[in-house]
Amino acid sequence: DGPLVSIRDARLHYRVGGALSALSGRSNVVKAVDGVSFDIRRGEGVGLLGESGCGKTSMGRLLLKLEKPTGGTILFDGEDVSALRGRALKTYRARTQLIFQNPFDAANPRFSIRSILAEPLENAGIAKAEHDARIIAALELVRLSQPRQYLDRFPHQLSGGQLQRVVMARALILQPDFVVADEPVSMLDVSVRAGVLNVFRDVRDRLGLTAIYISHDLALVRYVCERTIVMYLGKVMEDGPTEDIVREPLHPYTNALVSAVPVPHPDQSHAPLPIGRGAPDPRNPPSGCVFRDRCPRAFDRCAVEVPALREVGTRQVACHLF
Ligand code: SF4
Repeated sequence: DGPLVSIRDARLHYRVGGALSALSGRSNVVKAVDGVSFDIRRGEGVGLLGESGCGKTSMGRLLLKLEKPTGGTILFDGEDVSALRGRALKTYRARTQLIFQNPFDAANPRFSIRSILAEPLENAGIAKAEHDARIIAALELVRLSQPRQYLDRFPHQLSGGQLQRVVMARALILQPDFVVADEPVSMLDVSVRAGVLNVFRDVRDRLGLTAIYISHDLALVRYVCERTIVMYLGKVMEDGPTEDIVREPLHPYTNALVSAVPVPHPDQSHAPLPIGRGAPDPRNPPSGCVFRDRCPRAFDRCAVEVPALREVGTRQVACHLF
């Protein structure tokens, strides 16, 4: 079997500002995703890691066809996602799901938990008589005990952790093959994060799900994903087995992310990055290597040549040092 997802030279460039920003001499094009290529094997769990503005959420949206790429191709199960229409698009929508960052945004406050979970079943044309049984099975899957008691409740009557499990159940109820989870625990209380992450891990194992886990936090990615892709300003910096990356980060940016994680546990928040201030203005990235102005190891060549992603042992790295 080929990879479930195959991305080649994906780009998402868009214009911001307008005449004023053009007059200021700055470019008004943001390259949210800029020439990204990777494959995802069936059953693989991949962490997309980076600071805010690195393009990881845009990448997730491209993967789910929530955003149209401005270049490159995305194949899902061998088919070009941008060409999907009608029935094929509907099937693709059922096979791929997004788990949102904030469960209170994802769940309509006026709908009962039953209605929230019934919606995808209705859209997929599943007989009403089957709904309750499917809903209860999905709530059990995310380990909400006594699931029946949730059916007639409303989102505000649940804790953040319980509601995130409901949102997860909704994403899983049609038994998708591929899930993108966008910082699914970042809005939750630290005390309930590990519980939700354990459910995510457990569900992945049991269903053999292929998953992308988007996060700025390496400790969380390490907890749920065997592979990590590090992004910076729309480009892939490093891609490889999570444990190798944590043990011996190669790219200077990955190195900064790794050294900011004191203890590999999801309850721990990380220390500030040792490379100082945030990423530069995405409209004006540095020439050559986009990480250059924060890189402690930059040298002459970094200013003039964009480093290509190269194979180094078990992984791929985009840096002139390798
Ligand atoms: Fe640093 Fe140069 Fe490597 Fe970029 S290419 S990460 S600037 S050493």
